Amino acid sequence: MAEVTCSFCGRSKKDVDLMISGIHAHICDKCVTQANQILSEEKKSKTEAGFSPNFKLVKPREIKKFLDEYVIGQDEAKKVMSVAVYNHYKRLMQRKLDNDVTIEKSNIIMVGETGTGKTYLARTLAKILQVPFCIADATVLTEAGYVGEDVESILTRLLQSADYNVEAAERGIVYIDEIDKIARKSDNPSITRDVSGEGVQQALLKLLEGTAVNVPPQGGRKHPDQKMITVNTENILFICGGAFEGISRFIGNRLNTRPLGFVASHDGTHPGDLDKDNLLKFITAQDLKSFGLIPELIGRLPVVSFLNPLDRETLQRILTEPKNALMKQYKKLFEMEEIQLEFKEGAIDFIVEKAMEFKLGARGLRGICEAIINDAMFELPSEKNTDRLVISRAYAEEKFNKSQYSKLKVA
Ligand code: ADP
Repeated sequence: MAEVTCSFCGRSKKDVDLMISGIHAHICDKCVTQANQILSEEKKSKTEAGFSPNFKLVKPREIKKFLDEYVIGQDEAKKVMSVAVYNHYKRLMQRKLDNDVTIEKSNIIMVGETGTGKTYLARTLAKILQVPFCIADATVLTEAGYVGEDVESILTRLLQSADYNVEAAERGIVYIDEIDKIARKSDNPSITRDVSGEGVQQALLKLLEGTAVNVPPQGGRKHPDQKMITVNTENILFICGGAFEGISRFIGNRLNTRPLGFVASHDGTHPGDLDKDNLLKFITAQDLKSFGLIPELIGRLPVVSFLNPLDRETLQRILTEPKNALMKQYKKLFEMEEIQLEFKEGAIDFIVEKAMEFKLGARGLRGICEAIINDAMFELPSEKNTDRLVISRAYAEEKFNKSQYSKLKVA
């Protein structure tokens, strides 16, 4: 009988570990392994070249429409976010082979008072995205070697949200909250060491610049024996947010020192036409620098956006309009007890007034509502005869004034 040889490499059966037979041919284990390698390399290069994007391209208008269902107002910020995210997708889909134009990443920085919806916007965005997403807090970050978390911990969180699929994490989106808290404390760089400020900014810069970073898979401190996962940050979109309290001062100063005042805001209006309370509209990278962010970091956050402070009307809408508005949630909770819940206009006004007083933006709404409604939520489920609860202004005032919440000092 003729000797069996591999139809690909010609080795004979006795020289290989395994020979697989087909109808008219044979293949040895070595050739199978080699063919497998060729296949996976081919697959990988196709993915890198953007041939097989495994996500759906959502257009900016669709993204904004979705955001509108949850986040009230903040149109400018929503538009900027929608475009940036859309471009992020497009950038990922860009074929690497197409070397003419490289689309640069447009990381975003959002400035707005506390409780105006920065985090909420980012969180809502995460719902429509089919890329891994995580939220990190800049205040817990410290320079390597100090007590606190290394900046790499941000990527640990992203990896976790991607189920440790490195490739997916590498095209994810990271929201970094309270970026203003790592601003340099004075304009004079480094008289003494600034553990929580500039050092952290420098460390963050590395992430934003797009490098391969060794990430401890379980988070925490790096230590020598730990196995690291390498994550390349080149395609990760970073969105940063902060209240930047007091930044209006810098904006105001800058605007006043312009000799002719030819400064237009994002929407084309001039500062002279505007309420002095919302100078954030005119924010530029320059103001972020005056506030204490280092220029290199600002350079990596080219899209600067702002969120408006929430006025009475917006707070009222937030209470009632969004898909998961607080009022809708309470109604649902009572409905499950077969009780119809109604908030009178006066009660809603009262809640809004209190929220304005506490200066917590929309963040205060929930606490105030809880203070008002908690007694009813405690009592009614055990009462058989109630099928309706009307919250009037008087009811709201009485319950609120009795609660711990009312004893909070107004900031
Ligand atoms: P911050 O700007 O400080 O990050 P958040 O996004 O955490 O504020 O807002 C706190 C809460 O207030 C959110 O969870 C959300 O329920 C509500 N909220 C804030 N702004 C809005 C808004 N524009 N529309 C709807 N809800 C909002």
